[in-house]
Amino acid sequence: MDYTEGKGWHDPRIVPYQKICLEPSSMVFHYGQTVFEGLKAYRTPDGEVQLFRPDANFRRLNHSNERLVIPPVDEDLALEALKKLVDIDRDWVPDAPGTSLYIRPFIIATEPFLGVHPAKNYLFMIILSPSGSYYKEGINPLKIMVEERYVRAVVGGTGEVKTGGNYASSLIGQINAEKEGYSQTLWLDGVEKRYIEEVGSMNIFFKIDGKVITPALTGSILPGITRDSMIKVLQSKNIPVEERRISIDEVVEAAQNGTLEEVFGTGTAAVISPVGELKYLDHRIIINDGKIGEVSQMLYDTLTGIQYGRIEDPFGWTVRV
Ligand code: PMP
Repeated sequence: MDYTEGKGWHDPRIVPYQKICLEPSSMVFHYGQTVFEGLKAYRTPDGEVQLFRPDANFRRLNHSNERLVIPPVDEDLALEALKKLVDIDRDWVPDAPGTSLYIRPFIIATEPFLGVHPAKNYLFMIILSPSGSYYKEGINPLKIMVEERYVRAVVGGTGEVKTGGNYASSLIGQINAEKEGYSQTLWLDGVEKRYIEEVGSMNIFFKIDGKVITPALTGSILPGITRDSMIKVLQSKNIPVEERRISIDEVVEAAQNGTLEEVFGTGTAAVISPVGELKYLDHRIIINDGKIGEVSQMLYDTLTGIQYGRIEDPFGWTVRV
């Protein structure tokens, strides 16, 4: 679908995957005016195909649009288009355990112009790709490392929306972690470098002394849809869950006094990823003997059960295609 100033969004269409033609001066290449989303279609045991909370993805897309000064899209139209697209490609939704059809909606500024202003033309596309398990370790616990030098986001910046620049600036943390034998970066806040924000492409949760804690959405963390869903699942099971600021010192202290019980990340690609080891300065913290914890396992089973239609969806999150 195209956007032209004065005309609005127009010409929604479904075409085969193909190359697109853009001017080298297209503004997205130079000024990074782009937003995206990520969600999945799942194969159910009866052979049907369903989406998980797609309305939340299009709501977040429009929130990202607002921050990047991209014109809003009609969320109902986007969902209708997505359902049609997935329906056409339903044979591409795999059915092996843990697999899915990854869906990537995105918008780029296409106006050819070498000066900074909000572009007058955009292209909104949705592409699909069958996907296996995201982490090579599978559901085995991840090793993550606190990035000490660089920050991912600051309040008032673009950290709480999904735009390419956030990921470009995070790459260096990813490389630093990998050099040390860790698979993901744990980012701290951009001002005091004390409060925990999130990991690469997932939100993070800590179980300390029976309570589950996740960093509050203070304006520099992506409001993950899986994060929100897991908070609701925990509440529905009467497991205490708190959204609040949590410092890295609190986590180190909990590890030292034996109350750090579980750590896990949440995300569309990451699903529920238990963390088995955390590195911060000279601290190497092994969590739950490097094994998946009870709450992480329960959340994994509940989330994937709902997503793949193996268990009832009491929250009304799934949308059949
Ligand atoms: N944080 C970041 C930076 C991400 O890229 C993602 C993946 N979209 C998440 C958190 C998790 O968000 P969600 O649960 O909506 O996939």
